[in-house]
Amino acid sequence: SLIDARPHSAPRTIDRFAPGNGIKAAEVNAADAATVDAAVIAARRAFDEGSWPRMTGFERAAILNRVADLIDVHADELAALDAEEGGKPLKLARGDIGGAAMLTRYAAALAIEMRGDTFSNSGPDFTGLVLREPIGVAGLIVPWNFPALILCQKLPFALGAGCTVVAKPSELTTGSAVRIAEFYAEAGLPTGAFNLVTGDSEAGSALAEHPGIDLISFTGSTATGRRVVEASKKSLTKVHLELGGKAASLVFADADLDDAAEGVLFGAYFNCGECCVSQSRLLVQESIADEFVARIADSAARLKVGQPLDDATDVGPMIHDGHLAKVLGYVAAGRKEGARVAAGGAQATDGDLAAGYYVQPTILNSVTPEMKVFSEEIFGPVLPVTTFTDEADAVAKANAVQYGLSNSMWSKNIDHVLDVAKALKSGTVYVNTAIDAPPNMPFGGYKASGYGREMGQAGFDEYTTLKSVNIRTGRRAGTFAITAPRAARQ
Ligand code: NAD
Repeated sequence: SLIDARPHSAPRTIDRFAPGNGIKAAEVNAADAATVDAAVIAARRAFDEGSWPRMTGFERAAILNRVADLIDVHADELAALDAEEGGKPLKLARGDIGGAAMLTRYAAALAIEMRGDTFSNSGPDFTGLVLREPIGVAGLIVPWNFPALILCQKLPFALGAGCTVVAKPSELTTGSAVRIAEFYAEAGLPTGAFNLVTGDSEAGSALAEHPGIDLISFTGSTATGRRVVEASKKSLTKVHLELGGKAASLVFADADLDDAAEGVLFGAYFNCGECCVSQSRLLVQESIADEFVARIADSAARLKVGQPLDDATDVGPMIHDGHLAKVLGYVAAGRKEGARVAAGGAQATDGDLAAGYYVQPTILNSVTPEMKVFSEEIFGPVLPVTTFTDEADAVAKANAVQYGLSNSMWSKNIDHVLDVAKALKSGTVYVNTAIDAPPNMPFGGYKASGYGREMGQAGFDEYTTLKSVNIRTGRRAGTFAITAPRAARQ
């Protein structure tokens, strides 16, 4: 942990074993409630008395831009940390780090543009100012699947708005967050404005229930999200939730099928399928289903499953052995319920893969909406396939899950595109693309995928609150007479 820019020891440590080969990759200090308390006190002091919230937007932006430069300079190191600890293929980890720098620069631009509103239409005696203020101390809780990227979907936005921060990365992937915290210190962020607590659920729940926090921004599973909401109840802390997903790729017969085949596989297997926006169901129009599934099954079998640090790897290992067992359990459950394996279907154990937690890119065909694999988040390289007849059937099946984070659709027909995009119950719809999330577009969930938005102007505004200042000037006798009709006061 880094509190007030100083390393903080911890009562216990957690060993992190690399998912690619089972070798110890890191020892993480596990913060307890007392450490979290110290971090919140430091952030509180930095907010209530420190310089950060009082700086101009330009000054804050200058520091954020310096951090973005440091992220770029150290991109290889950060990418290697995320790949080794998290198991994601290095080439994807590099993309994450580029994204982290871009998000930081974008947040810097929003810091410069931060503004409220004015009402100058309240008559000659009144001016209404709507001040946009930082919400206070933000607690940021981050998962393991995009360690640097998701931290940077939150941190520079919170800081850019003038908040001070206590952030907690996942205990499984801590390295890049520690380095990014060091970059903020190097870039000149005032002491205490950003404090990092490393650790597991003990630290996470201590942060979520801490009365000194004004906003919790949480990304993780829906189950943990519910615990965060419970913890926030006592202090009525504002909570922003980015939770699980079960997105569908909807492939219509009028799609460009070359593009769709590539995009569906990318959507399903990107980041080893360990992605909240994984397009983890294929809904394909009946008339083209057999041919399309045969085609993607052939391509899936040719993807390279391999070590995360190998540049040729397309699909890396699962995050840990327990998760490997969970993913394989879903494959078994699907088969038991009547799904047919069209590709993969087992652990990948060739050569040095046996020491890690690898799953073959898998396609389960003939899946129906009653099956577990249709509706539950598997979070691995497993793609269940279901057919649909027409647009209404496609939309009904896509929406028939508890989640609503994203969906993608493949069609060259503008009527389908707009009708379906409007009917899908998800915070994001990708059309003829998959898992593209530009920093300037708001991102978030419907239904059990959470609430609030990350990125975009809306993501920045989450870290702010509004204050209405209604100013009367001049004198008007009788304005406050208790018997005066209310209209006379307006
Ligand atoms: P998780 O819920 O297990 O953990 C997320 C974070 O919460 C970790 O830092 C963890 O230490 C912490 N935590 C654990 N218990 C806590 C508690 N009681 N109180 C507070 N914090 C606690 O999730 P994960 O396994 O790290 O990530 C995978 C999940 O995250 C998937 O469900 C995925 O869909 C979701 N996810 C969502 C998004 C999104 O933007 N919507 C993005 C990435 C991942």
